[in-house]
Amino acid sequence: MKIAIIGAGPAGIYTALLLEDFEGEVHLYEQNKDIGEKLKTTGGGRMNVTNKVFSETEFNSEDEKWVQTLFKNPHFENRYHLLEKLGIEYQWEKNRAILQSQDAVAEVDRLKSKVLEQDNLTLHLNTKIESIESQDAGFTINGESYDRVVLTTGGMYRMKDMGDSDYIYRLPQSLEHSITDQISPSLCPLIFLDKPLRAFAGISFVGRLTDTTNKKSVIDDLLITHFGISGPAALDFSSFAGEKIELSFVTSVTEKEFIHQFNESRNGKNSIRQFLKEFIPKRLVDYHLDRAEIDQDFMADVPKAKLQNLVKSLYHYPIPPRQKNVYPGSWTTNGGVKVEDIETKNLESKKHPGLYFAGEVIDCSGLCGGYNISFAMISAQIVADDLCLR
Ligand SMILES: Cc1cc2nc3c(=O)[nH]c(=O)nc-3n(C[C@H](O)[C@H](O)[C@H](O)COP(=O)(O)OP(=O)(O)OC[C@H]3O[C@@H](n4cnc5c(N)ncnc54)[C@H](O)[C@@H]3O)c2cc1C
Repeated sequence: MKIAIIGAGPAGIYTALLLEDFEGEVHLYEQNKDIGEKLKTTGGGRMNVTNKVFSETEFNSEDEKWVQTLFKNPHFENRYHLLEKLGIEYQWEKNRAILQSQDAVAEVDRLKSKVLEQDNLTLHLNTKIESIESQDAGFTINGESYDRVVLTTGGMYRMKDMGDSDYIYRLPQSLEHSITDQISPSLCPLIFLDKPLRAFAGISFVGRLTDTTNKKSVIDDLLITHFGISGPAALDFSSFAGEKIELSFVTSVTEKEFIHQFNESRNGKNSIRQFLKEFIPKRLVDYHLDRAEIDQDFMADVPKAKLQNLVKSLYHYPIPPRQKNVYPGSWTTNGGVKVEDIETKNLESKKHPGLYFAGEVIDCSGLCGGYNISFAMISAQIVADDLCLR
């Protein structure tokens, strides 16, 4: 039995490694000169590998019912066991598990050594698969026959091989699989056309982003960058953000509680700057005081109207108009191969038995914080289970 895996991102690499005990040949094809080129850049080089909070609600798909059924697979619950099986060492940062080494490049090197050592596995680098022919019992790729094919070709954003959706999804489409009508960049930093926060690049804090139209909001870590804001809250928020967005710089207390605490502290020579440092990074204190037109040093001297300005600036900061989300810059793709033609029990094609899918190529994308690498790993194990049974 011969298996071809097309694409050596995490989904392809993990599928190949999880086929260690498969009694047959496994061929892993990658168009780039190395495996895991995108994986090396993940999590700012530290790679978020999974999350304590993990359910179907953290994933987007056109077909939510399909995702709910897929999530009944015990590998989702047992994902820590899979991390261990693949030798992925991690540490916790709040709910996110990041690499113990915090070095994604070294992790890809480690995976590559495992790939090269595995007896049943042949790695074909610099080999772009242009077409797959389906026959009665199997497939032909570059003149070679394979019994099974696993498509792990990823989503729209490729490190070097960009193109429109017809180009990126040409292999599944040539095998009669449809792609979703909606294909869009997901998990993108918010890039502002004006840059009012540029001077504060590098500051991170826990903030709340709210879409004032649909009232959806996200609270998590935010990072001010030269171009706008990034960090988990911004990336997750980008997947549903509309035009009108507000940022709250304070999340530790409600607006009402903030005003209450302010008024309680309005006596003697209590410094307003000292007070604000309890709630926001100190580099942002003068920025908000300027916006609120507060030039008083002492809390007792701040007029009520100016306190209202301050609360507005801290809790309802209007996000300036943004650049449209684009692929280089997005972490993942909303949309992909339609799931209605993929079996939930083993991720095999309903159109071509023997053809399987894993990872981002499937219309099932997760939020920021280890969900997508976990999905690559879990879907790889579901496929590998089935291939080992046959
Ligand atoms: C900057 C950034 C940071 C991220 N950080 C995180 C994070 O910390 N945690 C997390 O969970 N997710 C993160 N993601 C998302 C995550 O990297 C992807 O969801 C994941 O890589 C998808 O894995 P994949 O194997 O399905 O696809 P890819 O990683 O896209 O791999 C697909 C591979 O297939 C190859 N290929 C495609 N077509 C062909 C062909 N015809 N022939 C041969 N080879 C082909 C491509 O060259 C590519 O190497 C991040 C993404 C980016 C861009």
